[in-house]
Amino acid sequence: MDRRQFMGFSAASFFLTACGGSSNSKQAPVIGIQPVTPPVESVLTKSQWEELKSSLDGQLILPTDNSTYPTARLVFNTRYDHIYPQAIARCANEQDVITALSFTKQHSMHVTSRCGSHSYIGNSTTQGLVIDVTPMDSISITANTATIGAGARLADVCDKLTENNVAVALGSCLSVGIAGLTLGGGFGVVGRAYGLTCDSLVAVDIISAQGEKLTCDKNQHSDLFWALRGGGGGNFGVVTSFTFKTHATSDITVFEANFSFADFEKVMASWQALPDLWPDEMWGQFLPDWSNATSRVNVRAFCVNSATDATPYWQDFMHSIDATPSSNTVTTAPYRDVMLGTCSASATACHLATQFEGGRMSRSAFAASSDFFDKEIPPAGINTLKEYIEKSILEGNRGMIIFNLMGGKISQFEPNETAFVHRNARVSAEYYTALPLSASDNTIDAAQKWENSFRQIMSPWSSGGAYVNYLDPLINDPQSAYFGENLLKLKQVKLQYDPNWLFKSSQGIAPA
Ligand SMILES: Cc1cc2nc3c(=O)[nH]c(=O)nc-3n(C[C@H](O)[C@H](O)[C@H](O)COP(=O)(O)OP(=O)(O)OC[C@H]3O[C@@H](n4cnc5c(N)ncnc54)[C@H](O)[C@@H]3O)c2cc1C
Repeated sequence: MDRRQFMGFSAASFFLTACGGSSNSKQAPVIGIQPVTPPVESVLTKSQWEELKSSLDGQLILPTDNSTYPTARLVFNTRYDHIYPQAIARCANEQDVITALSFTKQHSMHVTSRCGSHSYIGNSTTQGLVIDVTPMDSISITANTATIGAGARLADVCDKLTENNVAVALGSCLSVGIAGLTLGGGFGVVGRAYGLTCDSLVAVDIISAQGEKLTCDKNQHSDLFWALRGGGGGNFGVVTSFTFKTHATSDITVFEANFSFADFEKVMASWQALPDLWPDEMWGQFLPDWSNATSRVNVRAFCVNSATDATPYWQDFMHSIDATPSSNTVTTAPYRDVMLGTCSASATACHLATQFEGGRMSRSAFAASSDFFDKEIPPAGINTLKEYIEKSILEGNRGMIIFNLMGGKISQFEPNETAFVHRNARVSAEYYTALPLSASDNTIDAAQKWENSFRQIMSPWSSGGAYVNYLDPLINDPQSAYFGENLLKLKQVKLQYDPNWLFKSSQGIAPA
């Protein structure tokens, strides 16, 4: 397999598809941009906005700024295009965040923070003021740590770190923001080897609801530090920087095989045994994919050990499946190439076209839900899932499920050791469908209902938990699903740091 072919199979390249666009496309489709003044009735006078504008080092973007506002207001999921913020404060530093927060309190205006804008339910937009931290995207690297501005997107984090032969465990969609990913946990292809993104955190700088800068770590504001590792974005303050412990990069061996959809049950039964069989250095996915006319079952693995060490594990897995794959490949490549895929030469393209000069990724219309499974799913559960997918195909509901292996370093934390509670899960599932960019709100809502229904049909076998980074607007009792036994402590931390509930969001944590 040559390098170009390899890139087609790399982690990043796969997720660029799921991210809603390709970095190869010459021009990303950009919809929802109206070059006319949008229907925003300002609740404040022009001079009040001018006052805020002049006190910021960064940019204040108002609906009257016709050259910037139409794109600056947009978030990744087109479902939230109907929301028009009063203003977007692109904060250049901590003082800007403090000033913007004080302004919203003075004027009793709803405020939310934004990094990569990928919140599934549009939590980084508001009809009030958006605090956009993306200008704070500096990255500095020491021998064992990296301090990353809370506005950095994964493309830049991965680019800068791997240039220095170090890395932090990251998710695979490169336009995602470091802030949302880390605060909710952070799944990625080296998760079993190095843990969730939040597991490498050593310190966080945050501006509290009181407008105070706090540094939290294991010794200072340790309760807040606990909550920031899995308690979800937007709940406890505006983070301005994260310090992570880094790991050295190595080559990564990528295995991938495709099976006919008819082999679904055989492949899934073998795959879900892997958390007990594979070393921590090896991570894997099981992807039933019926998003196109030809449905298939895809399995893949990423290993930070040598190919020689990893290959017997993959071969044993293949031999355990009583079916013949239509393809079965193995490739070893540098960490940087696997993670950045087609953007390893230049990370610029792997940003949203709406957010970044030179970015080529498009936004997306999508719907999703999630599950965790603490035990193996019995044959009856696997069969139920297969039949439900077959019914979906007949009804014209196209989609995929992304099952991730958990365990390894992720399960070396107790469920209450950080706010990320799903430490005993063997497997996570994301039920996901990407719709045409022009999909109407009704179409997206219908897809959301259908994605959520997977949780219902799998409920006899799932843990009942859900991933706070894959927020589902239709989930029952969302906070118990996202935080389980950690919910009470999260509410107490919220009461301590945000007693007046300044940071309020859909499905967000309320003070106890
Ligand atoms: C296509 C796609 C692929 C994805 N792939 C992965 C993956 O591989 N692994 C994984 O774990 N997740 C993945 N996710 C989920 C992703 O981690 C979450 O959606 C995450 O919350 C997005 O963070 P963001 O900064 O991009 O989004 P934003 O919408 O900007 O922020 C998300 C939340 O965090 C808050 N927030 C933003 N900045 C700050 C700040 N500075 N301080 C405090 N709160 C803040 C926002 O208010 C919002 O509530 C993916 C999402 C998409 C859409």
